Amino acid sequence: MKVAPFKTDTLVIGAGVIGSAVAMGLIREGVRDVIVADLDLSGEWSSSELNAGGVRATWSQEVNLVASKCSIEYFAENADAVGYRPVGYLWMHRPETWDAALKAREMHVSRGWPVDVLDPAELTRRFPLIDKTSDLAGALFGRRDGLVNPNRLKEHFREEAAHAGSRLMDGVWVHSVVYSAAGAMIRAFQFAAPSKLPSEAKKRVLTEAWSTEFESLGQWIEIECKNIVNCAGAWAPSVAKKLAYACPSEPVRRQISLFHAREVNLSEYGMMIDPSGVYFHPEAIYGLAGFAIKDEPGGYNFGYDAEQFFENYIWPPLYERSTHFESLRHISGWAGLYENSPDHHAIVGPVVGGPANGFAGARVFEAHSFSGHGVMQSFAVGVSLAQQIVRGRYELVDFSKMSAARFTAGGASASGIKEETWVI
Ligand SMILES: Cc1cc2nc3c(=O)[nH]c(=O)nc-3n(C[C@H](O)[C@H](O)[C@H](O)COP(=O)(O)OP(=O)(O)OC[C@H]3O[C@@H](n4cnc5c(N)ncnc54)[C@H](O)[C@@H]3O)c2cc1C
Repeated sequence: MKVAPFKTDTLVIGAGVIGSAVAMGLIREGVRDVIVADLDLSGEWSSSELNAGGVRATWSQEVNLVASKCSIEYFAENADAVGYRPVGYLWMHRPETWDAALKAREMHVSRGWPVDVLDPAELTRRFPLIDKTSDLAGALFGRRDGLVNPNRLKEHFREEAAHAGSRLMDGVWVHSVVYSAAGAMIRAFQFAAPSKLPSEAKKRVLTEAWSTEFESLGQWIEIECKNIVNCAGAWAPSVAKKLAYACPSEPVRRQISLFHAREVNLSEYGMMIDPSGVYFHPEAIYGLAGFAIKDEPGGYNFGYDAEQFFENYIWPPLYERSTHFESLRHISGWAGLYENSPDHHAIVGPVVGGPANGFAGARVFEAHSFSGHGVMQSFAVGVSLAQQIVRGRYELVDFSKMSAARFTAGGASASGIKEETWVI
């Protein structure tokens, strides 16, 4: 039996931290009719579930500073709800990056973000853990940078959105769209018991071609809407294709290790970034460390290389940084996906390009490709994109530079955007 189409003003595809924030933003803007659809609301494979929870406004590019600062200020106002802790980000620099770091710091401070400058002696005095500093020129410490609980943050956005009636649809996988003068008709498959769908099956639905073997587990549905927002994270390129436009980003694996440092109490420290690229921070009674392997191939790879990753990439730089890290024990770890854009900035705004005759009566927007920093920009993006959708302009934070127009011929120089280099 064919089910009557669901109807809504705005359909948000993807209910990770970004889709949930956009739903909250739309509700704040007075839109009372929003559906947020996701294959898996628990987000088992989503980046919002598999990240490190770091939040910082210390960036090389001002547009990222502004977006993160605005979000962190909101996290600070709602610290209990989102688990914000201003434990700081400590960026250690060798001589070759020090001048540029100090220049970036001038920008941070001029925009009201406090960042301390530490010479190597002061660094060890304030952070006794860091006692091997002979290769360092200095360090910057962003005092209000810190950590959040990404899961609580996502739930917080969802609760704010649900108060005023936005609908979260679980087990709904968006398949295709038909545009008409009346708007868009989305075709999707709805799993009858999403919570019983095995992890591997969810991964296959998300990352491989649709298989008819799933069709006994639910039914095809339609969702009629005026506006669509692509918030599909690392799957944004495939959702963009379904929506009839192209997205230049690609998913890339990032691994994280949990380790035990017997000789030191890490709980006194915040996020630390070694010049090698290894970052680490306390995680309950353990340390959590990540590293981006150079030339990691793109793709939907969730494999964690376990001890091999820890011993090849994490432990050696930590050993070189602290006598307290000479004996570390690998506990476990995982891999999730970064959603990398070509210039490591998010892609936000009305979709550029699309079918030759446009999207007919529908409007299509996007917020994805955060290149590893979606949690820390989520609030600003959610509210600002909703303003763009409803009022036709950004008010909280101007994301116009982050439009995908920068990837069209001459677009990058017109937008004035430069590549973000403080990516870890
Ligand atoms: C290891 C790691 C560490 C990180 N550390 C940090 C950090 O410290 N700080 C920080 O700010 N960021 C960090 N990030 C990045 C951050 O996690 C992401 O930028 C952010 O979570 C992106 O959120 P999202 O909502 O866009 O995507 P996601 O959370 O991935 O959500 C996308 C959703 O779309 C759904 N979906 C996809 N296709 C479809 C479809 N066809 N139909 C229905 N639903 C669909 C998926 O099920 C998923 O739930 C890290 C990421 C990783 C992997």
